[in-house]
Amino acid sequence: MTNAILVFNAGSSSIKFAGYAQTGSAELELLGKGQVEGLRTVARFVCDSPAGERLAEHRWSGPVSHALALDYVIQWIEANAPNIKVTAAGHRVVFGGTSYTAPTRLSDQVVAELDRLIPFFPLHLPHNLAAIRALAEQHPTLPQVACFDNTFHHTLLPVAQWFALPRRMFEQGIRRYGFHGLSYEYIATRLPEYVPAGSRVVVAHLGSGASMCALRDSRSIESTLGFSGLDGLPMGTRPGAIDPGVLLYLMQTQGMDAKAIEKLLYTESGLLGVSGISNDMRDLLTNDDPRAREAIELFTYHIAKQLGALAAVLEGLDAIVFTAGIGEKSPEIRKLVCQRARWLGVRLDEEANARGGPRISTADSSVSAWVIPTDEERMIAIHTQRTLATRG
Ligand code: ADP
Repeated sequence: MTNAILVFNAGSSSIKFAGYAQTGSAELELLGKGQVEGLRTVARFVCDSPAGERLAEHRWSGPVSHALALDYVIQWIEANAPNIKVTAAGHRVVFGGTSYTAPTRLSDQVVAELDRLIPFFPLHLPHNLAAIRALAEQHPTLPQVACFDNTFHHTLLPVAQWFALPRRMFEQGIRRYGFHGLSYEYIATRLPEYVPAGSRVVVAHLGSGASMCALRDSRSIESTLGFSGLDGLPMGTRPGAIDPGVLLYLMQTQGMDAKAIEKLLYTESGLLGVSGISNDMRDLLTNDDPRAREAIELFTYHIAKQLGALAAVLEGLDAIVFTAGIGEKSPEIRKLVCQRARWLGVRLDEEANARGGPRISTADSSVSAWVIPTDEERMIAIHTQRTLATRG
């Protein structure tokens, strides 16, 4: 029998999962990845091998609950991998407030405390917690660990944590936290393979959600995301930083309420809103419509602008890292960003960039540039293993 850790990332419409074998060697071995998508419409289960081959697929005729989807995943593993024993589950949890500065073993008490944080993340946290509760009911003895998307940023500079709002609001939790922490933490663990210790590094996590993080000594000191998933860079369907006066104007003149503003900010803006074509960078890169080019320009302009800001925070820059879907797979976007960063000393090696790196800067570039694939699921599996070993 091989022990395995299951990793879950539960959202409103999908549950992504990955399984890792604890082989006894230091490395956890990926067994497979998959998801149940369309939870609210027509649900579909897929599971792929580490090489990307489709291992299984199942369709339901309508929506399914988180509980049913999780049950299906575990039953499928038990039926199809009889040598695998699931011994722990690790969850991506979007927010742990300030109380949790490390991954945490879940108990009824911890789940109840996380429940109180739902007002901070009403669109995401309830789904994370629904999956945790469902799994606890189905498998009460299975240890579960929460890995929070903000904890890696607990080292943010104190000044970076403040909004210039009345002081009492900071105490109420209205402050800058930073997100995509599991991705940045994974990159931080890989950095020693690429850059010397002590380097001042900016990591650009460019996926359907996008942000950037300044790392000093592999610790996060500043992030373009603050209180929610809405700050910083334009994203697939989110605008990034926006003058709050725009929102007041829309509320006062167009009668938009909080729900309408939420819809605008989470689903109608960003690359989709500006292009009117798609939120998927692949569609924009292959479209001749000038609106697609404008959306790409807006995206790369803001990345370059934030790069300058983060270099100022770091008091210099030694390396820039591209990661996540767009960062890992789009030479064109990397090129556009690096061209805008010439003034900082970035010199792109076009061939290396076309190949996908890992190093994509020339030997004489004073700032090195890299493509490092992120792996949030593996980071969660590592944390789950460690948390249970030390406190289990
Ligand atoms: P998520 O935030 O959903 O985990 P990913 O990090 O997987 O997202 O990134 C998804 C995005 O990556 C897609 O929306 C798409 O825009 C982009 N992407 C994927 N492949 C490519 C590619 N070959 N070229 C450009 N963009 C790509």
